[in-house]
Amino acid sequence: MTHAMDDELRDDLNALAGRGLRRNARTVASAHGPTIRVDGHEVLSLSSNDYLGFSRHPDLADALHRGAQAHGVGTGGSRLISGTHEKHLAVEQRLARFVGTEDALLFSTGYAANVGVLTALTDSRDVIFSDALNHASLIDGCRLSKATVHVFPHGDVDALAALLRAQRKTHRRALIATDAVFSMDGDCAPLAALRAVATEHDAWLFVDEAHALGVLGPEGRGLSRELGVTPEIRMGTLGKAFGVSGAFVAGSRALTEVLRNRARSFVFSTAPSPALAEAILVATDLVEAADDRRGRVLGHAARLRRELSSLGYEVPGGGTPIVPVLTGTPEATMAMARRLFEAGIFAHGIRPPTVAKGTSRIRVVPMALHTDDEIQRVISVFAELRRAPQQSARP
Ligand SMILES: *Cc1c(COP(=O)(O)O)cnc(C)c1O
Repeated sequence: MTHAMDDELRDDLNALAGRGLRRNARTVASAHGPTIRVDGHEVLSLSSNDYLGFSRHPDLADALHRGAQAHGVGTGGSRLISGTHEKHLAVEQRLARFVGTEDALLFSTGYAANVGVLTALTDSRDVIFSDALNHASLIDGCRLSKATVHVFPHGDVDALAALLRAQRKTHRRALIATDAVFSMDGDCAPLAALRAVATEHDAWLFVDEAHALGVLGPEGRGLSRELGVTPEIRMGTLGKAFGVSGAFVAGSRALTEVLRNRARSFVFSTAPSPALAEAILVATDLVEAADDRRGRVLGHAARLRRELSSLGYEVPGGGTPIVPVLTGTPEATMAMARRLFEAGIFAHGIRPPTVAKGTSRIRVVPMALHTDDEIQRVISVFAELRRAPQQSARP
């Protein structure tokens, strides 16, 4: 029986490979950082969300160690059974204070947070409006919710307003869901305009700050804070600029109370380790004080955008650390990623279904810890590939 299954599954894998879409993760054998050891090669890492370089900060390692010694590693249950530790409550208070909301609720991952929010707040009486380029976790939350879902063209507030005019009255609740910074395009959502249209049509605004938190806004408090916009619901991840893992939803006390009761990805999942909560507390202090690192990572990204554009590459977006270099087909993208790797640059090729057909790309993401020389090396390799597109990038 198993053989029959495996044969069928191998056909699936071969079909993926035939379309250039088979994925194989490279293996990292070093601590995370600006330079990493991947598959036996020392390479510059341009494919990390650890924007500020905190994932291997000694204070975070100490906090995790201290937390594990003091409170143990496991929680033994979900938050509502026996898994709520005072450190969870402390971290929730701290994160609420950080983004400037009444309360916050910790989740194991951003994926779980997004699915939890959308399914807990909406049902068949409701309607969700979702940006076309939203993260997969928001898309899956929409799919799992029983609400009517309308996907609006990326960043198109007029199209959204038209949908609201047509749809709002026949539904109990309307919720607008958007990434703050779009993870594959590196552009920002028009939050002020979205806020205005949400208010006008009595809809709630749900902003996923995964790639903005720690990087944008005063002291890294996110894009909403940078633009002075107050969404009803904010999600932030702790596995990116915070260098740890986990996520939170921030908003009013009523919001977090409903999520505590009804978000299934919160209720039916083992609580994160209290040691992790210790590390998140320390990470929040580090992030708050990291203006210097924010300046460096944004400066590197601006320089990469400018220089790669002037080399003739198509580089959309702006104002964030995510620098997408459009390459077209999945095959061309993977060939480019391979040649970059041979030249000592680890930047990820992104293909469908992560991005739309025809928009495959190399996603170049600098870290605050890269030196100016290292960024120059990246630019030089891209220049070399431009000059000799068919040959190896090795000098
Ligand atoms: C990474 C990411 C998530 C998921 O967060 P995890 O903590 O990694 O599960 C959600 N939304 C966006 C926009 C992301 O980039």
